[in-house]
Amino acid sequence: MSAMISLRNVTKRYNSRRGSVLSLDRVSLDIEQGEFVTIVGPSGCGKSTMLNIMAGLITPTSGDALVNGRPVDGPGPERGMIFQQYALFPWLTAQQNVEFGLRIQGMSSRKRKETARHYLDLVGLAKFADALPKELSGGMKQRCAIARAYAVNPEILLMDEPFGALDAMTRVHMQDDLLATWQQERRTCAFITHDVEEAVYLATRVVIMSPHPGRIARIVDVPLEYPRTEEMRLSPEFAELRTAIWRDVHHSADAAAG
Ligand code: ADP
Ligand code: MG
Repeated sequence: MSAMISLRNVTKRYNSRRGSVLSLDRVSLDIEQGEFVTIVGPSGCGKSTMLNIMAGLITPTSGDALVNGRPVDGPGPERGMIFQQYALFPWLTAQQNVEFGLRIQGMSSRKRKETARHYLDLVGLAKFADALPKELSGGMKQRCAIARAYAVNPEILLMDEPFGALDAMTRVHMQDDLLATWQQERRTCAFITHDVEEAVYLATRVVIMSPHPGRIARIVDVPLEYPRTEEMRLSPEFAELRTAIWRDVHHSADAAAG
């Protein structure tokens, strides 16, 4: 069986007036169905480029991106994307924003309402269903964008630092919710973060990238069972993994700096 997501020798070069940047250099990665892969690495190492290639928003300069064995040709409904910057329609309420993708799927109005309510409730926004984005805080807008992505129930969730703008408490809460839904529904998840603790807490595997040019430096299996708990976060095993990965990330950042 082929992997759910497969990058084969993917290279991406950006050409602009200021010159040419090799953002990804022959990156190969297989993500199996139901895996939760996190991607860490210093700023500018090509994490977003890699995820956007999986999403079909960026075309590789060379190499192949496959989803379910088929070449990626633009975005598709089986891949949900959550960005760091909440992308909500400003003229729609929170509820209408969450319903938007369901409407496209042709879901009945009643089922749409129910589903939107369920996911707004999950992210703690039930009371704000009728609020417009401008009436929500940054963290609340992000939670709404997350509810919208969960609601359409895609097979694959591609997340680019989705919790980066949230306060620490909300962040832990969102991590646990994400893992709970992942355990129930076994979506395939690719999740970028610059927070090594978050990377370890969530993942079955952590992909560590190094910059200039962007390459996969190392892939680390996380041998902790699910559900993950706060006790695990405080365990020596967790600390060891976190420290080793943190060193790798900082080592590759220092090496790139000079
Ligand atoms: P990360 O998400 O890890 O911070 P990115 O994928 O955003 O990294 O960027 C990787 C490299 O490619 C960086 O050096 C960045 O400046 C460059 N880059 C990203 N997008 C563009 C673009 N549209 N045009 C030119 N260079 C880009
Ligand atoms: Mg990025």
